[in-house]
Amino acid sequence: MNADADVLVIGAGPAGLTSAIYARRAGLATTVLEKLVPGGQAALTDAVENYPGFTEPVQGMQLTEAMRQQAEGFGAAFRTAEVQGLDPSSPPDPHAVRLKDGALRAQAVIIASGARHRRLGIPGEDRLWGRGISCCAQCDGMFYRGKRVVVIGGGDTAVKESLFLTRFAEAITLVHRRDRLRAAQALQDKLFAHGDRVQVAWNTVAEEILGEKGVQGLRVRNVRTGAEETLTCDGVFIYVGFTPNTEAFRGTVEMDEKGYVVTDETMATSVPGVFAAGDCRRKLFRQIVTACGDGATAAFAAEQFLEAQRTEEADA
Ligand code: NAP
Repeated sequence: MNADADVLVIGAGPAGLTSAIYARRAGLATTVLEKLVPGGQAALTDAVENYPGFTEPVQGMQLTEAMRQQAEGFGAAFRTAEVQGLDPSSPPDPHAVRLKDGALRAQAVIIASGARHRRLGIPGEDRLWGRGISCCAQCDGMFYRGKRVVVIGGGDTAVKESLFLTRFAEAITLVHRRDRLRAAQALQDKLFAHGDRVQVAWNTVAEEILGEKGVQGLRVRNVRTGAEETLTCDGVFIYVGFTPNTEAFRGTVEMDEKGYVVTDETMATSVPGVFAAGDCRRKLFRQIVTACGDGATAAFAAEQFLEAQRTEEADA
């Protein structure tokens, strides 16, 4: 059966784009499949301060667009397509990546489908999503100029996005379920330098988002005292972690209980010839730089896999 490419890369965030750069430089015919626009979550990050080589913060969009251009410059093909599933085959037959309108085949597949913001699952969330609830300060922050917003979460993302919101919002209340933030101290210091405009509701969980056509408030509960109150606000930004975009590969490659793809240190999954890189795989630290590292490793391992297959075929 003929293959459409040597390597199909699923996802065009930093992991997928780096895979494509390395795969092309290894001379492999490489096609990158992306559902919407290239860049992934990183493209929505305002200022990236910890990607090596930049002494000044770089816009996430600028960084990922440069990666995309670099991959394209080396000859990677890009195709907008939503992947529906993966039908693995036994070598030398290529694996089939199922799309809405057909399938593409390749001996090596790199899953770099990333992750998306997790939701809280509280009343009001579905009704008001996109009508005052957001998970992208970069996209929606400007609608809150001079207004009051609540940010839920205590990790790097919540603090970073709160920092971005200080450009617009008059007051920001961070709602966190514990008594200390998980976010890096450097980020916390920057946020708290904004003084009284930034408040934290410690040991507090969100119970319900209030409002009919738009957000009017957030009902919260203190987990220590049980006391409930309503925080009046015009917008709610939710940053309580991520869910991997791996539904299409369920039952095909091994995953952990949270749906992250399990790989070894070469990024190989449980299916020979299928690799995973970046935020969609089980790993310790999800950063742009670690996604790029995964992408480079996955491309190298895919090249070795293809080489071994060719040697086997030649010997047969
Ligand atoms: P995260 O580190 O998993 O933090 C999620 C936060 O949400 C935690 O504070 C957690 O509380 C809270 N949370 C989780 N479930 C909740 C619930 N049901 N109700 C209320 N609160 C809940 O996620 P993240 O901040 O999005 O970061 C993800 C990864 O990206 C991390 O590795 C992070 O370092 C990285 N990142 C890095 C940067 C950077 O600038 N270096 C920026 C953004 C993200 P607990 O603390 O109590 O668990």
